[in-house]
Amino acid sequence: MNTKELDAAYVAPTYKRFPLEIAKGKGSLAWDEQGKEYIDLGTGIAANIFGLADDGWIQAVTEQLTKVQHTSNLYYHEPGSRLAQLLCEGTGMKKVFFGNSGAEANECAIKTARRWAFKKYGDESHSNIITLKNSFHGRTITTLAATGQDVFHKEFGPFTPGFLYADPANPAELSALAEKGCCAIMMEMVQGEGGVNALSPEFVAEAVRVAKEKDLLLIVDEIQTGNGRSGKLCAWMHFGFVPDIMTTAKGLGGGLPIGACLLGERVETVLDAGSHGSTFGANPVCCAGAVYVMEQLNPELLDGVTARAEYIRKELEGAKGVEGISGMGLMIGISSTRPASEVVAACIERGVLVLTAKTKIRLLPALNIPMELLAKAIAILKEELGK
Ligand SMILES: *Cc1c(COP(=O)(O)O)cnc(C)c1O
Repeated sequence: MNTKELDAAYVAPTYKRFPLEIAKGKGSLAWDEQGKEYIDLGTGIAANIFGLADDGWIQAVTEQLTKVQHTSNLYYHEPGSRLAQLLCEGTGMKKVFFGNSGAEANECAIKTARRWAFKKYGDESHSNIITLKNSFHGRTITTLAATGQDVFHKEFGPFTPGFLYADPANPAELSALAEKGCCAIMMEMVQGEGGVNALSPEFVAEAVRVAKEKDLLLIVDEIQTGNGRSGKLCAWMHFGFVPDIMTTAKGLGGGLPIGACLLGERVETVLDAGSHGSTFGANPVCCAGAVYVMEQLNPELLDGVTARAEYIRKELEGAKGVEGISGMGLMIGISSTRPASEVVAACIERGVLVLTAKTKIRLLPALNIPMELLAKAIAILKEELGK
């Protein structure tokens, strides 16, 4: 059996895959098993932040791999400590908990918020967390419960209680929700899986105001928006406030699994020895890759993200078949007259990998995609959008 047949026979069918096997890659180019070339504007859903097989990242990862591949959290290791330092210095957060995925990072954020409230009130009276309609926070039972989309709340119940859903189009309703025994407001600055929609500055300002007035924590899920994708290290940095807790994953590991929950001053002492853990969390190889990633995210690279994002918008805004462009930085949603799935299939056929989010076409290119490759891919996308 070939790869596709083996998959059909043995892999749980939870994914609707594109008809394409990725055999190898270099930077923003990928090749299938027959050697057909693709320009990758999806980066494994924002994970391959510098594309495939990036030289510097490979060196960082392999060097660590040949020294120590895993220690467990019973011992110290240099890449974990160094990565925590880089994350805190870059964001102003105080402490980091490492897990292996976005969902796990969000679980930590939720546990931290609840424990903070328990310590403050002495009971579970303020355990509710306000999340947003159309959000996405992960696939565990609790992060699904946090996810404000009804489609995810079926057939797997009972779900974890304690989540209230606010409509980001209706900031005025936040204040009343916050009266209902809450400890935190949790949000993505750009709702990625929900359709690449940035929150309005009005909604964010109201969330910040209500959090302050009601003494709630602000949790920002930067799993997709973080690590420079928005043109700043974190998307919240565009909105003029600082969260109490933030989570990130996807791009952080450069393609290896790692998630991080960053704790600000108000919650830095909430988790103590034994209160939380993860066997593989802060895996040294993943951390070494993430240290390399963090070290590259300098102002020059971030300016390059903004320049590429402006180029894409300039090319596509008002183009034939394009109804609108949403998102921030190199996290772009395109509303099209032609069905998104059809455009994606046509692009793949023509050697360009793009994604969907709800009814939109979604672009998540590598932050360092060479301009000439980007131009070539956008030209093909533009043609397909106009058909
Ligand atoms: C992808 C994503 C998650 C879940 O991350 P996993 O690594 O798949 O667990 C959570 N929140 C947001 C905003 C995401 O984009």
